[in-house]
Amino acid sequence: MKRILVTGGSGFLGSHLCDRLLKEGNEVLCVDNLFTGRKSNIHHLLDEKNFEFLRHDITFPLYVEVDEIYNLACPASPVHYQFDPVQTAKTSVIGAINMLGLAKRLKVRILQASTSEVYGDPELHPQPESYKGSVNTTGIRACYDEGKRCAETLFFDYHRQHGVDIKVMRIFNTYGPRMHPNDGRVVSNFIVQALKGEDITIFGDGLQTRSFCYVEDLIEGMYRLMNSRDGFTGPVNIGNPGEFTMLELAQEILDLVGSGSQLKFLPLPQDDPMQRQPIIHMAKKELGWEPKVRLREGLIETINYFDRILKVPV
Ligand code: NAD
Ligand code: UDP
Ligand code: UDP
Repeated sequence: MKRILVTGGSGFLGSHLCDRLLKEGNEVLCVDNLFTGRKSNIHHLLDEKNFEFLRHDITFPLYVEVDEIYNLACPASPVHYQFDPVQTAKTSVIGAINMLGLAKRLKVRILQASTSEVYGDPELHPQPESYKGSVNTTGIRACYDEGKRCAETLFFDYHRQHGVDIKVMRIFNTYGPRMHPNDGRVVSNFIVQALKGEDITIFGDGLQTRSFCYVEDLIEGMYRLMNSRDGFTGPVNIGNPGEFTMLELAQEILDLVGSGSQLKFLPLPQDDPMQRQPIIHMAKKELGWEPKVRLREGLIETINYFDRILKVPV
């Protein structure tokens, strides 16, 4: 049994990770400032003897004793990370320094939840880990993109300079139950709009693409990366290579919900990437991982979740 710290543990991905780590027989310390996370995501864990919740902002030092660290704390939806961009950059950079300082003192392994956003609006398609990215340093997405890029740099410098045992995971768009209904990301927006019979908000012409990974697959990849061989640091892409336009996503959701919602076209936000698709050869080779859940199956699970919580808000 390990004692494992999960920062951002009451968020969408973090809460699923806490479930998984507890199921594997570990003790979990969930640290979260509840900026975008919700207590309801971990409500079912509060009475578990191996689970502990600590309300804390990782931009401040944290002195605890653990055997392993998953660093997920950071708002992930553009709406939320742009709400307080300075805090987003601080969370990514100062938060990474604090968690790396903790890992260095304790001599424990630490995994960073990085992102496909390090590739920016990619000129190379699909994206291998070797692609260095195309990010506008002064744009509205930079607080997140550059924050996460700097965090990767810090992880590799703590590794080279202090011998910290690191794992860096580049997560592509992930969706599933426990996303916040007001999260602002595309899958939750479209599903909530379709269920309520409201207009589906398509930004731009809807021809931009994303590759959507179901949360269960993503958590499996994260767990395998943390437990991968010594010396394998990544960065490694974890995502589903299935690529869809936003119009295709909207149509699929409308069909599954059986909704009469209309499409409403709105301006494309600044620096919105035109395309995104992971190459996952490294994850297959090093982790024996590939996604199993097809978009349609994952959407059905997610629609059922939102259908439930919209009837009885949590
Ligand atoms: P989320 O917003 O649901 O979860 C983030 C959690 O971090 C929330 O619980 C929030 O309250 C917490 N948090 C934010 N700032 C904090 C701080 N300073 N101190 C402590 N806690 C803080 O988002 P998510 O989708 O679960 O994303 C989790 C991680 O995965 C993030 O680091 C994100 O960048 C990364 N990621 C997610 C996706 C995705 O598609 N879901 C894609 C790429 C990367
Ligand atoms: N830190 C922490 N918990 C620890 C150890 C360190 O939060 O158990 C933070 C502390 O704020 C420190 C940062 O991590 O400033 C970086 O630690 P490091 O040892 O690299 O640098 P220093 O202590 O010299 O600033
Ligand atoms: N998007 C959209 N309508 C929405 C929300 C998002 O068309 O209501 C688009 C957005 O412009 C982007 C894509 O969907 O091109 C994915 O957006 P999301 O915020 O989910 O993630 P990210 O842009 O970070 O990949």
